[in-house]
Amino acid sequence: MKTPEELVRPEILALQAYPVAEAEGMVKLDAMENPYRLPEPLAKQLAERLAKVAINRYPDPTAPRLRARLAQAMRVPAGYEIVLGNGSDDLIQIVSFTLARPGAVMLTPEPTFVIYRINANLSGMRFVGVPLRSDLDLDYEATLAAVREQQPALVFLAYPNNPTGVLYAEDQVAEIIRAAPGLVVLDEAYHVYARRSFLPRLAEFENLAVMRTVSKMSLAGIRLGYLVSRAGWAAQFNKVRQVYNINVLTQAAAEFALEHLDVLEEQAQRVLAERPGVGSALAALPGVTVFPSAANFFLVRVPDSNRAYERLRRQGVLVRNFNGTHPMLANCLRITVGTPGENRILLTALREALQ
Ligand SMILES: *Cc1c(COP(=O)(O)O)cnc(C)c1O
Repeated sequence: MKTPEELVRPEILALQAYPVAEAEGMVKLDAMENPYRLPEPLAKQLAERLAKVAINRYPDPTAPRLRARLAQAMRVPAGYEIVLGNGSDDLIQIVSFTLARPGAVMLTPEPTFVIYRINANLSGMRFVGVPLRSDLDLDYEATLAAVREQQPALVFLAYPNNPTGVLYAEDQVAEIIRAAPGLVVLDEAYHVYARRSFLPRLAEFENLAVMRTVSKMSLAGIRLGYLVSRAGWAAQFNKVRQVYNINVLTQAAAEFALEHLDVLEEQAQRVLAERPGVGSALAALPGVTVFPSAANFFLVRVPDSNRAYERLRRQGVLVRNFNGTHPMLANCLRITVGTPGENRILLTALREALQ
């Protein structure tokens, strides 16, 4: 009988499972969630709505009502298709597997969202990471040169980037899309915080798809991502997508939430109102470098992030430690902006952890 090590594909043996820390009872600032829940009366209405859902039936695989609502709420330009994913993680996998012809290249600036690289490995695409500049902004010339040389089938650009928070210059992004011979997926997971989007510019680029998620706007638990593209791309992605990837409860909950988009937007605004204060308070701590952020988190460099992470954890504050994941992220912590109370606890705990 062969062992798993003898049977499993080598590229999977080389992977590590995505780390998710135990968060029970912690001030949870590790995953860019919005800290606010649905207000109680709305939560009750949602429960009533969900109680009516026929969970004995399979979902509608095309989710026409939800897609129409999304198109309207997010002002998707007319004539474009929406492909739904079980989170945008699912969409990243769908797009990668669709384009993974033998020898095909996936290119992205690095460090960035690790799920891109994982899906290059799983799908058999050749991965090309172009290093960011030392200030963690895009190395525009190097990225453009790499696109011309490598001729990638697929480019992922996180706009703004995770885990850095940096929003690349719009004209540089546009030039990279123009230079790319293949599909460019602009990952706008943080659009509610960045207030920048290429969605209105889709018509300018035949090879552009805009991907978003509801995860960073108070709905991380329902798992819903969406990708807006031309019909020709969407038709191919829909063959790779698992037929029933958006379950009935998610479809109903998302439709309900989008009917109350003003509430979600207000919750994002509350976090946005906290962002500058948290940023300058972090920058005022001794030995701390804060990178500029267009998202709902800050990447900070501290003298010893392993020690700071551990000391924060012991004080009940969970952040993400990126030390050891990429050379440019040495001694870096990623800290989600929370409620005013959570941010106060974080800042007090971090001041102490750095001593
Ligand atoms: C959080 C995040 C995602 C994941 O979104 P889900 O919809 O929760 O899977 C995708 N891209 C980036 C850049 C992110 O930061």
